[in-house]
Amino acid sequence: MPATATDLALVAHWIDGKEQPGVSGRTAPIFDPALGTVTKNVSLANQAEIAAAIASAKAAFPAWRDLSMAKRQQVLFSFRELLNARKGEMAEIITSEHGKVLSDALGEISRGQEVVEFACGIPHLLKGDYSENVSTGVDVYSTRQALGVVAVISPFNFPAMVPMWFFPLALAAGNTVILKPSEKDPSSAIWMAKLLQEAGLPDGVFTVLQGDKQSVDGLLEHPDVKAISFVGSTPIAQYVYETGTRHGKRIQALGGAKNHMLVLPDADLDLVADSAINAGFGSAGERCMAISVIVAVEPVADVLIEKIVTRMKTLTVGDGRRSCDMGPLVTEVHRDKVASYIDIAAEDGATIVVDGRGIEVNGDPNGFWLGPTLIDALPVTSKAYTEEIFGPVLSVVRVASYEEGVDLINSGAFGNGTAIFTNDGGAARRFQNEIEVGMIGINVPIPVPVSYFSFGGWKNSLFGDTKAHGVEGVHFFTRGKAITSRWLDPSHGGINLGFPQNA
Ligand code: NAD
Repeated sequence: MPATATDLALVAHWIDGKEQPGVSGRTAPIFDPALGTVTKNVSLANQAEIAAAIASAKAAFPAWRDLSMAKRQQVLFSFRELLNARKGEMAEIITSEHGKVLSDALGEISRGQEVVEFACGIPHLLKGDYSENVSTGVDVYSTRQALGVVAVISPFNFPAMVPMWFFPLALAAGNTVILKPSEKDPSSAIWMAKLLQEAGLPDGVFTVLQGDKQSVDGLLEHPDVKAISFVGSTPIAQYVYETGTRHGKRIQALGGAKNHMLVLPDADLDLVADSAINAGFGSAGERCMAISVIVAVEPVADVLIEKIVTRMKTLTVGDGRRSCDMGPLVTEVHRDKVASYIDIAAEDGATIVVDGRGIEVNGDPNGFWLGPTLIDALPVTSKAYTEEIFGPVLSVVRVASYEEGVDLINSGAFGNGTAIFTNDGGAARRFQNEIEVGMIGINVPIPVPVSYFSFGGWKNSLFGDTKAHGVEGVHFFTRGKAITSRWLDPSHGGINLGFPQNA
C-alpha cells in the first residue's frame, strides 16, 4: 500500500543536543528525485520554535566561548576523524534527497571537510598583534573574539559542503551556530549535528532549525542573532542582506551565478571539451560554479561543438545510486523550469544541438529527469542567456575576438566564477586582470578556491563584503579588540616547575 503523508518519517529540529520533532503542525515534503516520490516530511518551525532554538544557542555561548582553544580545536579534530570514517552515510542521505550521484555527494563532503581541517588551525588564525612600549610602560595588543549566536542559511544544492563552509570556523572561533538548511534536503544537517555531538561538542552549541521563510525571517529579526551567512538565489540573498543589515547584523549573502568559459582559438580543444562536460553537467548543472555559457572565439566553435557532442553521447543519466554520470534534478518544479529555458532558447532562434528532454534513463520513469542539453548560437538577449538556469543546459555564444568575449562576460549581472582556456600566458594574465568576476580559472573549469583562500563572487553573486572561509571567514565570525595596557609592577603566576601544558 502506498505510504500516506502521515506514515512518513518527519525530519526534526536539533535543539539542546537532541532531535525535537516540531510542534508547529507545518511540514514540507521531501522527495527522492530519482523516484519522483515523497519519502519524508520536514518540520517547519513556528515562532516559538525559532525562539527556543535561539535561546538554546544563546545559553550555550558563554561556556563555549570561554572553553580553551585547545579543547574547541579537539572537537573539530574528532569531527574530522568521524567524518572521514563515516562520510559514506551522509553521501547516501544526500543522494536520496538531492539526487546527485554518490561520487559527487562524496566529493562535496570532502570539499567541506577541507574547511574543517582549516578550522583545526584556529589557534594560529586567531593570533593577534602586540606592540611593546608604544609609550613609556604602555603596550598595545589586539585580539579577535567570538560574536555570539550566528546563523547559517543554506541552499539545496550543497547540503553538506555549504554549511561546512561556515560552521567549522564559526564554532572554532567560539560562536554558537544555528543552521537553517534547505527544506528540500534537510537530513544531512541532522546527521552532522549528531556527529558533532559524538565529537564532543556540548549541547546547544550547534542547532538545526528546520524551516522556510518564517525561520529565515525569525533569524533575521531576532536581536540575539549577531551574524548570518546565507547562500542561495540572488533575490533571496539580496533580501537577506538588506533585512539583516537593517536589523544591525553582520551579513554575508552569496547569490546566484551565470558562469562563462572563454575559449581562445589557441586552446587545447580536447581539454576544453572535457572541461565543458564536467563543469556543465556535473551535479546536473545544479552548482553555483557550473559553466552555463561557452564563449567561443571563432573559428573554434564548430570543432569544439563536435567534440562536446561526441562526449555527451557517452554520458549516462540515472539514479545516483546506480553508478551513472548524472542524476535527476531536485524537484519536478525545478526540472520543468530548467526545461522551459530550452523552449525559450529555441523560440529566440538558438539551435538545440542536443536536446535532453525525453531522455532515456537508468532509473524510475517518475524521476525528475532532464538530460544534458547543448544549445548553439544563443542570442544574448534571450532569457536563456541572461538568467540563471541551474540545470544541465550548456550554451555556446560565438564571438569574433577576445575583447568581445570579455565585454560580454563583464556586461552580465552576476560575477561568481569564470574560466579562460588558452595556451597564451599573456592572454590569461590580461583576462585575470580585466574580468569582473570573483573566482577565475585558467584552464581550470570550476575554480572553487581551497579552504585557506576565500570563496565568493562579485556583483549579484555576493551581497556583503566578506567571503566564505579562508581568512575572510575568520574575520566574519570574530570581531577585533585593541587593548592598551600599563602595568606598573611585573606580575607573575608564582613558582611552578612543571612543563607548561595546554588545558
Ligand atoms: P533559494 O534562494 O531558493 O533558497 C536558499 C535558502 O533560502 C533556503 O534555506 C530557503 O529555505 C531560503 N528561502 C527560500 N525562499 C525564501 C524567502 N522567500 N525568504 C526567506 N528565505 C527563503 O536557493 P536554492 O534554490 O535552495 O539554491 C539554489 C541557488 O543558490 C542558486 O541560485 C545558486 O546559484 C545559489 N547558490 C549560490 C552559491 C554561491 O556560492 N554563490 C552556492 C550554492 C548555491
